[in-house]
Amino acid sequence: RYMRRLESKDIALNQAMIPLGSCTMKLNATAEMIPVTWPEFANMHPFAPTDQTKGYQILLEQLEQMLITCTGYDAMSLQPNAGSQGEYAGLLAIRRYHESRGDHHRTICLIPSSAHGTNPASAVMAGMSVVMVACDNHGNVDMNDLRAKVEQYSDTLAAIMVTYPSTHGVFEEEIVALCDLIHQHGGQVYVDGANLNALVGIAAPGKFGADVSHLNLHKTFCIPHGGGGPGMGPIGVGAHLAPFLPSHPISPVGSLPATNDTVSSAPFGSASILPISWVYIRLMGAEGLRLASQVAILSANYIAHRLKGHYPVLYTGKSGTVAHECIIDIRPIKEHSGISEEDIAKRLMDFGFHAPTMSFPVAGTLMIEPTESESLAELDRFCDALITIRDEIRKVETGEFDAEDNPLKNAPHTALEIASDDWSHAYTREQAVYPLPSLRSAKYWPPVNRVDNVYGDRNLVCSCPPIESYVQ
Ligand SMILES: *Cc1c(COP(=O)(O)O)cnc(C)c1O
Repeated sequence: RYMRRLESKDIALNQAMIPLGSCTMKLNATAEMIPVTWPEFANMHPFAPTDQTKGYQILLEQLEQMLITCTGYDAMSLQPNAGSQGEYAGLLAIRRYHESRGDHHRTICLIPSSAHGTNPASAVMAGMSVVMVACDNHGNVDMNDLRAKVEQYSDTLAAIMVTYPSTHGVFEEEIVALCDLIHQHGGQVYVDGANLNALVGIAAPGKFGADVSHLNLHKTFCIPHGGGGPGMGPIGVGAHLAPFLPSHPISPVGSLPATNDTVSSAPFGSASILPISWVYIRLMGAEGLRLASQVAILSANYIAHRLKGHYPVLYTGKSGTVAHECIIDIRPIKEHSGISEEDIAKRLMDFGFHAPTMSFPVAGTLMIEPTESESLAELDRFCDALITIRDEIRKVETGEFDAEDNPLKNAPHTALEIASDDWSHAYTREQAVYPLPSLRSAKYWPPVNRVDNVYGDRNLVCSCPPIESYVQ
């Protein structure tokens, strides 16, 4: 009951879609989750003698092979515990590769401005220096700026880290030319595979020119995530990088030397959650995986299409379409109405939705990724919520709602607040908590009002009792 009480406070996927762009919050089938509870998987010690881990070895080998097929690479490492750890492992492999050829001075890592924050962080941890590359008006890597940068750093270029499709929600049309250009200047191409949910079964980074990628198994391959983990971020590499994959000093991985870099304390990372991805891939099959990617792209385009008359969609490709996610631009709306992306994110809770990704990769925007998991009815419910919110913003613009005391600025609304004897707001209780009739039959109640994020960040609250309280 305690667990159930906690659960009801949370907007999880069992209540509504979680449209977090770049995070790929897809549904996880119970069948995929069950093996995690089996003691044979759950209770294995990471350093158990190999003659006692034969089943695990088969699982790891098969999963590696399936991921190799999905990505078009030649080898895979199941050691990294997260996408960010995969980045670190992949960049280390690139460094060791350059060093093996005497290119110790190749330490420049080019990173487009659309990149996830982990990209530059990993590059710095791998001992590289980051050079930013600009993006053009359509969200693609600016090829002119890239050409200038590769010329400038031709002798010291180690790598580029590029996300494909990009976090701007578009397929970089020049991706093949981009890979060629980097190779011509002696660099390696790291394709951040976090957005693989738009690619599996359709295109493979190992085939279009990349040398290494991480896969977020907790995004594309169904391991549930949120609240920080657990995850798995295996990397795929071309044959030339395979000798530099992570190994382990106590328990060397495959035929790799024990002296190779190690990125996780266990040789196979969080191995116990790998059965989830194994079951997902086996249940879906090649056809199913391709269909999932297609439906994910279709769903994102459906949302972009329904919303574009209400919110500007920031980036689209040549044909006016997006990849598996879309960014809506709140900056012009904020300028006009004073309603910010955060107000919209908080108001969505009153409609029973988790907010999309906010202000990444572009400040003042919301990035929406529906994934293939969601039904048309749920996509429509989400669009209806955002369109109703746009109508509310219009009421602020026209003065029908007060600029400060309105349902958006005060969102989310708790049951306690609504039930309180003194309701002093300039709008009704009904407008606050039942903005759409459909909410009457299924209402999520946020457990707390809006918190002051900035205040919280700046004022550490320690709930530890003082040491004196232990005296008696
Ligand atoms: C999620 C994500 C990462 C980092 O992956 P983690 O598993 O969270 O460390 C890197 N790049 C992009 C584009 C992502 O969306």
